[in-house]
Amino acid sequence: MSGSTASPALEELPLRPELVGQMPYGAPQLDVAVCLNVNENPYPPSEQVINEIAAAVAEAGRSMNRYPERDALALRGDLARYLGYGLTAEQIWAANGSNEVMLHVLLAFAGPGRRVLSFAPTYSMYPEYARDTHSEWCTAPRRDDFTIDPEGAVTAVLEVRPSVVLITSPNNPTGTAVGLPTIQAICDVAPGVVVVDEAYYEFARKGTPSALQLLPDYPRLAVSRTMSKAFAFAAGRLGYLAAAPAFIEALRIVRLPYHLSALTQAAARVALAHAPEMLATVDQLRQARDDLATWLAARGLQVAESDANFVLFGRFTDRHAVWQALLDRGVLIRETGPDGWLRVSAGTPAEMQTFKDAFAAVLGNEIHKETP
Ligand SMILES: *Cc1c(COP(=O)(O)O)cnc(C)c1O
Repeated sequence: MSGSTASPALEELPLRPELVGQMPYGAPQLDVAVCLNVNENPYPPSEQVINEIAAAVAEAGRSMNRYPERDALALRGDLARYLGYGLTAEQIWAANGSNEVMLHVLLAFAGPGRRVLSFAPTYSMYPEYARDTHSEWCTAPRRDDFTIDPEGAVTAVLEVRPSVVLITSPNNPTGTAVGLPTIQAICDVAPGVVVVDEAYYEFARKGTPSALQLLPDYPRLAVSRTMSKAFAFAAGRLGYLAAAPAFIEALRIVRLPYHLSALTQAAARVALAHAPEMLATVDQLRQARDDLATWLAARGLQVAESDANFVLFGRFTDRHAVWQALLDRGVLIRETGPDGWLRVSAGTPAEMQTFKDAFAAVLGNEIHKETP
């Protein structure tokens, strides 16, 4: 190709200036034996669920020539029943992953001249939704143990006056759950909406309360969940949110027409009908997480207390070298979080053993660990 027909380089295209030099989301998808980098549930669905999904998708295929049910009301009803708390379909929103749900929230409630506040370190995608919606991204720091100081949070909300506050609980990448009194304190002063992202809620220690119970008290509060993590349905792309019906009405204004495919709706409904089975491995994964944390701490590492299906640990003078050395041994983890820390997902017993063997070999080199 040459001359005027040449395919242009990216720099030659009139990209929005704030996107120049930006990279797409790209957690490495490598062909590695042990993938412990994106917090998936490592257990695939049973043959029975696979067959039922196939049958439901085939049925949906009969009307492939028609647009899907735009408001996904049957699916939203199923999600409401799954959550409980007396929720109904009109209090539920659903989209292609809770990432899309969160983009809808920012499209509806943030935007030019408006601010989005969260508590760092937190989920790396939030600042990207803020950028994409021309909103100003602001953070207040967490304490050294990654908990949120309620008084500091209230001060930050009063100073920043955010249109949207995002609270991740349990937090990614630290695993930290946020107590309800802290969420209430933030809701009491927030001038806009507050979203609690409970993507990892099912992994929280038993008795950890959900912000869902606060919904009746706070009409501007929303709680988001996903089927990507505990529910073992990451490839299905289904995230959802619970809030007051008016909040859901706001999200419907900004969603694309027919955003949720008939295939997604059909497959998700089958998975939800088998909720106990889809969630059957959660206890095992909680145990794997706790064992992993104990094992890492016994090796003299700092380990963040986790209510999710991963553990953040450190600190390393050169975390990239540790990450690479593990990858060289066939174990992919995540280089994320504050400098010097790494994140590893809870896996199957075999995966945990491979990780431990590989990590022990890497630590044996003693070149990487920072003396506390
Ligand atoms: C993984 C994750 C999600 C879920 O994303 P999906 O788009 O539903 O797959 C949401 N929030 C946080 C904090 C996460 O870590």
